[in-house]
Amino acid sequence: MPVVSLLRCDTYDNAILKERILQSLALIGFDPERFRSAKVIVKPNLLMPAREEKAIVTHSEFFRAVVQIVKENGGIPILVESPAVHSLERTIKKTNYAEVVESEGIMVADPSQTRTLTFDGAKKFKHIDISEAYFDADIILNLPKFKTHGITYITGAVKLLFGAIPGLEKSKMHLRAPSHEEFAEFLLDLYGAMNYGFSTPKPMIHLMDAIAVQEGEGPGPAGIPRRLNAVLAGDNGIAVDYVAVMVAKLQISKALTVANGFSRNYGVSSPEDIQVLGETIDAMKVHDFVPATGGSIFSNMFRWPFNTPTVKNLFLDRPIPREDRCTLCYQCRKICASGAISASSGKLRVPDYDYIKCIRCYCCLEICPEAAIEKKKGFLQWIMGG
Ligand code: SF4
Ligand code: SF4
Repeated sequence: MPVVSLLRCDTYDNAILKERILQSLALIGFDPERFRSAKVIVKPNLLMPAREEKAIVTHSEFFRAVVQIVKENGGIPILVESPAVHSLERTIKKTNYAEVVESEGIMVADPSQTRTLTFDGAKKFKHIDISEAYFDADIILNLPKFKTHGITYITGAVKLLFGAIPGLEKSKMHLRAPSHEEFAEFLLDLYGAMNYGFSTPKPMIHLMDAIAVQEGEGPGPAGIPRRLNAVLAGDNGIAVDYVAVMVAKLQISKALTVANGFSRNYGVSSPEDIQVLGETIDAMKVHDFVPATGGSIFSNMFRWPFNTPTVKNLFLDRPIPREDRCTLCYQCRKICASGAISASSGKLRVPDYDYIKCIRCYCCLEICPEAAIEKKKGFLQWIMGG
């Protein structure tokens, strides 16, 4: 039975955080002695350079507390992450991670070196190129930040492993798995590969920073920071995400990596399988958490032969850049795998969008540093209430 530790924590104070994290590890039965002489990958969410208070990245003090625990128990922590657009080096430099990496003497792996991970149990994506550092590690510590997400509804333990795929290769996956359902299934293939695909399985522990989180149009600058004041832990990412979704009182059926994850036979097949230790879900539950607007109810219907540009434009939200906020930085253009964004034509001081090419992955919306991109419903979406 997967165990999830759920603890209250309303601060990023180092001593308190370390105490909570050690208590979490004890509750899930993980002995920190196992860190001794181990190469331990510590993978935070470093989506983009962002200020701590925006709650976009795993808090640097959460990362610090974890790497200190690894070091104090004789392990070698290695930071592995691949931000969306910027290099890892630049992202570290532009966040508080620079000071933590420097003062704690943390090795940073080059995320661009990849190797193919094969998992025959995958539904569709049996071979996935991930950062090579994972192959050399003994233990993986996944440090998700709990946030809302326009496509996957939430981003937590399962979604964070998407960062194992380097840089812009990530956004290309949206071309191969364009609907919300297909993308969630791809993430579950990747989650399965990371758990069962290595020739020697690696212990993977998910330590979730759910202290300051994001609601609304997360997981980037458009999301709204708020507090859940919780630290979650477990060795089953689907179970950890389930508990986080329940604490935020969101809908499990919309969190596809959880709902569909239950049918994957990855060590948890229903909520009844999960044992929560520490606080109860009811004691931690919030009642006013705001989800992302997410996709249209038609999002998963657009498969051949109905996935024509015209049908798409009628039924799916379009990403629209706002002239009053756009700085023409063109990060949206850089991340767009379908080539739908080009330089401003001059009529408006915003990039030009080609909605025929746009696959509605909303990566541009996620990474726009000015939160300048909004969703606008397709014409028939309004009429049919999608
Ligand atoms: S819409 Fe956002 S990401 Fe795109 S150019 Fe404008 S500010 Fe930059
Ligand atoms: S324009 Fe935005 S939503 Fe459309 S495909 Fe490109 S990144 Fe995705």
